[in-house]
Amino acid sequence: MINELVWRQLKSQLDAKGVTLVAVSKTKPVADILALYALGQRDFGENYVQELVDKHAQLPNDIRWHFIGHLQSNKVKQIAPFVQMIHAVDSFKLLIEINKHAVRNGRTLDVLLQMHIAEEETKFGMDVTEIFNFMDYYRAQKNELKQVNIRGLMGMSSLTDDVKKVEQEFLQLHNRFLVMQRTDFMGIDTFNICSMGMSTDYPIALHCGSTMVRIGSAIFGSR
Ligand SMILES: *Cc1c(COP(=O)(O)O)cnc(C)c1O
Repeated sequence: MINELVWRQLKSQLDAKGVTLVAVSKTKPVADILALYALGQRDFGENYVQELVDKHAQLPNDIRWHFIGHLQSNKVKQIAPFVQMIHAVDSFKLLIEINKHAVRNGRTLDVLLQMHIAEEETKFGMDVTEIFNFMDYYRAQKNELKQVNIRGLMGMSSLTDDVKKVEQEFLQLHNRFLVMQRTDFMGIDTFNICSMGMSTDYPIALHCGSTMVRIGSAIFGSR
């Protein structure tokens, strides 16, 4: 069951700000996705490869699928034919693999680099030094990576009620995004996405400059 009222309110609030709403449908049935699709939602996020492949096969072709989970290089092949954006790129090896499968499918794939901003050790993503190193490799090999389009950054805050802490983490991500926009991607207007904010922390993320939120349980109910 979807919460239509929450979706309508979110959608109009976000549209007014020019922020993209990715509806995170992981673990939720195809019927719920179709119900939201009927209201006009087109961007959906999933984080398990097999589940995404199965759902893609059953749902309308104009859905823009976002892969938001940790992606193993050996699974890129399965989603490359149809995925719109891969949110959590955290290694150069993965970027090379994504480009390879984009070429094979005659497509260009949008990706975001995942930055580690949370306190938790277990969360994936690159710290600032790793992003620097990543960008060094990227600059050196750019000409061989023409079918992967780095659109911006993505990150997840710590699981905490401490609003100040979450705010600091999102500001750190957004600052890095602005710095990269002015340096590495200067004059490249497609580097324009800062994906941050989920059901519980999206108001903070919006206030810190998010351009894309990934919201699941607030729309689809708890998992
Ligand atoms: C599950 C998930 C979300 C959505 O989380 P909710 O709390 O249900 O809004 C957002 N981003 C990522 C990376 C996720 O795995």
